[in-house]
Amino acid sequence: MEVIDLTNLPISDDEGGAVSREELENAVDDMTDARLRKIVIRLADRIPAFRSALVKEAMVVSGKKRKAVPRWDVCANCKEEYDISGERDDEECCYHSGDLDADEDYFADHGEDCHGPMDTKENRAQFPQGFIWDCCDENALSEGCETGQHVSGGKPKKRR
Ligand SMILES: [Zn+2]
Ligand SMILES: [Zn+2]
Repeated sequence: MEVIDLTNLPISDDEGGAVSREELENAVDDMTDARLRKIVIRLADRIPAFRSALVKEAMVVSGKKRKAVPRWDVCANCKEEYDISGERDDEECCYHSGDLDADEDYFADHGEDCHGPMDTKENRAQFPQGFIWDCCDENALSEGCETGQHVSGGKPKKRR
């Protein structure tokens, strides 16, 4: 009979060295964001070289006062994350300038009395063809009708 060892022990340096990049990546993928954030900060506290590499990834200096600010922002137009230290390009951002409305024809069989409201997050995700941008009359699957530079201000407000 095989003896099953149920103890979980911290990994030794030797054992750690034998872990492949893929195994490590999988373990990191499975962590919650909160745990990963804690670990990153703890490593930065302990390892100066890690801290300076992290600062370069996470922050840039901005303005005449050369104040360090977060490097990554979310665009208010396209809602994508972008690097504020990158060179701006007039075609980097593709978005719709209008609002998305439910298409009454598409939802003709959808009685709001029995099916609930048409314009919900779930319906937008499930039936993108049934929602029309009022800027260009294209449906929600279409690419943006406006291009421009990313603009700041798309970050969701922090919960405090
Ligand atoms: Zn549009
Ligand atoms: Zn953008």
